[in-house]
Amino acid sequence: MQVIKKIGDLRVILGEYRKSGKRIGLVPTMGYFHEGHLSLIDAIRERVDIVVVSLFVNPAQFGPDEDLECYPRDFEQDEQMAKERGVDIIFYPDKDEIYPDPFFTYVATEDLSKVLCGTSRPIHFRGVTTIVAKLFNIVQPDIAVFGRKDAQQAIIIRKMVEDLNFPVEVVIAPIVRESDGLAMSSRNTYLSPKERKQAPIIYQSLKKAVEMVQRGEPDAGGVKHSIRQQIETAPLARIEYIEIVRERDLKPVKVIEPGTFVAVAVFFGKTRLIDNVVLK
Ligand code: AMP
Repeated sequence: MQVIKKIGDLRVILGEYRKSGKRIGLVPTMGYFHEGHLSLIDAIRERVDIVVVSLFVNPAQFGPDEDLECYPRDFEQDEQMAKERGVDIIFYPDKDEIYPDPFFTYVATEDLSKVLCGTSRPIHFRGVTTIVAKLFNIVQPDIAVFGRKDAQQAIIIRKMVEDLNFPVEVVIAPIVRESDGLAMSSRNTYLSPKERKQAPIIYQSLKKAVEMVQRGEPDAGGVKHSIRQQIETAPLARIEYIEIVRERDLKPVKVIEPGTFVAVAVFFGKTRLIDNVVLK
């Protein structure tokens, strides 16, 4: 496994692979790997010859009061885990390599970025689409994989690829959970033991929502109310949003129709957790 820090070096190496007909897969990450990240590596390894994992804590997707500085990092551990999982190249650039000073050009998937997480994180998705567009230009992958854990992000990237004609196949991989149902996230390490104990209420409430819909409940308001009631049984939980939206445009629905999912953001202390499940 090679660790590459410079765009120029990466282009030379990947150019050789491409010339010899190898298919290249990209897994964009911010590091601090857990089984969620590793599942993306597994999903793409079956489909390509060369697996590139990018590891970059992207300042452009953090708001001024967010956790950029304290975002968990452990490059040596990530390197070891990636190696064991059969990654070929880790692209691990410095900030200056990615963002020349000054930097003026951003990619934004307008409307989809303003709802759900975009309401409280107004510049977040512009940062995500900009870094992913740059990574697509740098790596020129045949396939890139994203986790359903960040459903809005995955949907936005799929739309960016369609709108801007990136010749990249986007694969969306299922959410990997802890044994108690909590969606794996690098940010789970911020949780205190008490918060961690209460956090599985999020997925429990979403599972109940799926059951309600399966039993025939058509009313989105009723399902949201049930989720809210359950999450509120956890004293440390503070709900940011519970929304039931359409997959294709993230518009809220009143009646649960095929192609809708429920997405939630819940704070435990300062830690903001997100989760989602498909309802129908
Ligand atoms: P991050 O390092 O948090 O930016 O995540 C990198 C990629 O891993 C993104 O595509 C995430 O959606 C995905 N990911 C993070 N957590 C999970 C999880 N629990 N299950 C599946 N994919 C995940």
